[in-house]
Amino acid sequence: MSFSALGLSDAIVRAVTEHGYTVPTPIQTQAIPAVMNGGDLLAGAQTGTGKTAGFTLPILNRLSTDAVGAAQANKSSPRAVRCLILTPTRELAAQVEESVRVYGKYTNLNSAVIFGGVGINPQIKQLKHGVDILVATPGRLLDHMGQRTVDLSKVEILILDEADRMLDMGFIHDIKKVLAVLPKKRQNLLFSATFSEEIKALADGLLNKPAMIEV
Ligand code: AMP
Repeated sequence: MSFSALGLSDAIVRAVTEHGYTVPTPIQTQAIPAVMNGGDLLAGAQTGTGKTAGFTLPILNRLSTDAVGAAQANKSSPRAVRCLILTPTRELAAQVEESVRVYGKYTNLNSAVIFGGVGINPQIKQLKHGVDILVATPGRLLDHMGQRTVDLSKVEILILDEADRMLDMGFIHDIKKVLAVLPKKRQNLLFSATFSEEIKALADGLLNKPAMIEV
């Protein structure tokens, strides 16, 4: 199996190949077609399995090849956030955004990362500039929502990465506040290493007939 056989565009296959990957990992082989289909996904995956590329590659593919993406790329006005990725920690947020940048280098999609513990003003400036894919930790995202410096009204794809760790860290209420402002019609992906009753309840409320994969 190759990345191009999974249906990814040339722009994405080129970036992945240059990054040194030749063969998709098992989670990538399963997640990439499922996410490209547009449906919801529930994935059980540990760190180290290649899960980050498992969701970033198909979302970059979807957002860069659809009609909205093409129209936005030709517009000079700021882009509203189309994909929101929530992570438990700033380190993970930064890593995920770095992956989006690397794999998306030959697309014209913009990304940004926002997390707490650093100044908010550079983040506000970046958000104003227009961001297609936003990676965020829940607390700082809520700060931006409160200050109305982020527009989540056009989100088409929501990803919860390491959802179990987010719940362990007490982010459930923050996540619910974010969910409440998102458009109802969207694609949802949930990644978790473990499945407690709390995660199952979150998944039940969030996901609509999800594809399920476990590696
Ligand atoms: P992750 O589980 O997303 O944290 O990825 C774990 C590690 O595997 C990272 O260092 C990735 O750069 C690497 N990786 C992801 N996908 C592939 C692949 N298809 N081939 C080789 N390495 C990969």
